[in-house]
Amino acid sequence: MLFLQGGASTQFAMVPMNLLPAGKKAGYVLTGSWADKAYKEAKLFGNAYAAASSEADKFTRIPSLSDIVVEPDTAYVHITSNETIGGIQFKEFPTLSGVPLIADMSSDILSRPVDVSKFGLIYAGAQKNLGPSGVTVVIARDELVQESPKSVATMLRYDTHAGNDSLYNTPPVYSVYMMNLVLQWLRDQGGLAAIEQRNAEKTDLIYGAIDRSGGFYRGVAQPDSRSRMNITFRLASEELEKRFAKESEQQGFVGLKGHRSVGGLRASTYNAVTYEACKALAEFMDDFRQRNG
Ligand SMILES: *Cc1c(COP(=O)(O)O)cnc(C)c1O
Repeated sequence: MLFLQGGASTQFAMVPMNLLPAGKKAGYVLTGSWADKAYKEAKLFGNAYAAASSEADKFTRIPSLSDIVVEPDTAYVHITSNETIGGIQFKEFPTLSGVPLIADMSSDILSRPVDVSKFGLIYAGAQKNLGPSGVTVVIARDELVQESPKSVATMLRYDTHAGNDSLYNTPPVYSVYMMNLVLQWLRDQGGLAAIEQRNAEKTDLIYGAIDRSGGFYRGVAQPDSRSRMNITFRLASEELEKRFAKESEQQGFVGLKGHRSVGGLRASTYNAVTYEACKALAEFMDDFRQRNG
C-alpha cells in the first residue's frame, strides 16, 4: 500500500510510465469520461488499445466481461470500477490469466467488499470515499512496484515510494491522518459488508423514485450497470432540469446538477451520505414530479 500525492490523475500517467515498457501494449476498457482520460494519458507513453468499449451505447452500460479482448503482448488491462460522471459501475470484475488487472477505484473504493487478489494494482484519490483530497492510495502486488524503468523521474516511480514506506519526501500528513479517522469510522459502521448493504438501501430509494415515475425521470444507466455511488438521471427538458436543480438547492440538497460535460442530474451517494439524506431526496423527487408531471 502506497500513500502518494497528485490525485488519481497522476496515476493515469504513473501506471503506463512504470508498467508499460516498449514492445508491450496496454488494454483499456472504455466506459466513459474517466476511463477515456486514463486511456489518453497512457497513449502519451506507449501503445494503448481499447480492450472493450460501450461507446456505441453512449457509455450507459459496462461492457460484458466476455467482450474484453486481451491482445498478445499486453502488459496490463485497465478498468474504471465506477464511472463517476456517467453513473455506471462494474458489478463483477474480469479474471485475466497472466495479465495484471489495474483499476481506478477513485469513486467506489471501500463502498463494498472487493477481492483484491484479482488485481495487480488498484488506485484511488481519497476525496470521494476515503477522506479529504491530497492523498492517493495505491494497492499493488509487490512485483509491480519493485523495479520501475530507469528513465522515470524519481517522484513518479513506484519503486521510490515502495522502497521508502511512502516517506521518500514529505507526505500529506493531514490527509493521511484524516483518512485514518475515516477508516476507523468505517470499521465502527460494521465494515465493508455493512456499508455495502447501506449503500444498496440508500440508492434503492433514489432509483425507486426514478422507476416509479412513469418516465418523468429517465435513468441514464442501463439497470444492470447502475452505480451505487452516482445516480444519473434526466428530465424531459433542460428547462425542467434547471428547475429541479434550483428547487432542490433551495431545499438544502447540494450538487445535484450533472457534471458540466454531460448535463442532466446526478445524485452522489458516497459512504458519507446518510440514508436519511437519500430518503429526503427520493421524497423531494416524488413531490417535484407531482407538481411538474
Ligand atoms: C474524481 C476521479 C478521478 C480524478 O481524481 P483526482 O484525484 O482529482 O485526480 C479519477 N478517476 C475517477 C473515477 C474519479 O472519480
